[in-house]
Amino acid sequence: MQIHGFNKTTLLDYPGLVAATIFTGACNFRCPYCHNADLVLNPSSQPIIPEEEILSHLRKRKGITQGVCITGGEPTLQKDLKDFIKKLKELDLKVKLDSNGYKPEVLKDLVKDNLLDYIAMDVKAPLDEYDVIAGVKLDTSKLKESIDFLIAGDLPFEFRTTVIKDFHTRESFEKISELIKGAKNYYLQGYIDSPNVIQPGLTSYTYEEMQEFLPIFEGKVEHVEIRGVE
Ligand code: SF4
Repeated sequence: MQIHGFNKTTLLDYPGLVAATIFTGACNFRCPYCHNADLVLNPSSQPIIPEEEILSHLRKRKGITQGVCITGGEPTLQKDLKDFIKKLKELDLKVKLDSNGYKPEVLKDLVKDNLLDYIAMDVKAPLDEYDVIAGVKLDTSKLKESIDFLIAGDLPFEFRTTVIKDFHTRESFEKISELIKGAKNYYLQGYIDSPNVIQPGLTSYTYEEMQEFLPIFEGKVEHVEIRGVE
């Protein structure tokens, strides 16, 4: 595993659990608002944290750390992701995977083998606007496959959208609400601009403005919430 970051304790990254977070390198998207630009654009410049160092820490914390969140970059690009998760499972840890959903075959394989306990998948935009917000040309049928797979399955999951004023309109959310119809949990995440993102200078909606999008999801998604902005 190409692991470049390890946060030993978080109460935020894994809903309801004391968890650790692992940051993998590389991504197949180039979202302009990405806060992990170094991991995405130049992962080889980042120091690697040996897998054994992380596993040894988690062994010592057995009974205290309840889960591990694997994020990135895009973790599904890691060839040995499955083997690594098996090692976490041997430590009785719950595993949450953060993914952009562009590798449905990887998600399906991990779920089939009961290796995941929670998936957080980005739904960045309506499918017809996805290329702009992902910063690359995409085959959006792969995203749709992941979305439909999660909605039809039993595994706890959430969809989330980082909301950018320059990209997202009321119409975007109307289309997203149709795309994720039947999902249990959806989060609208506030965006905070920073010089460290891939394309600085993007703008955000206020909390009040974001609240106006919530009724669009009524009757389509069970629970919709705004997070990361007040
Ligand atoms: S998918 Fe995630 S990690 Fe990859 S570029 Fe977009 S925001 Fe960054």
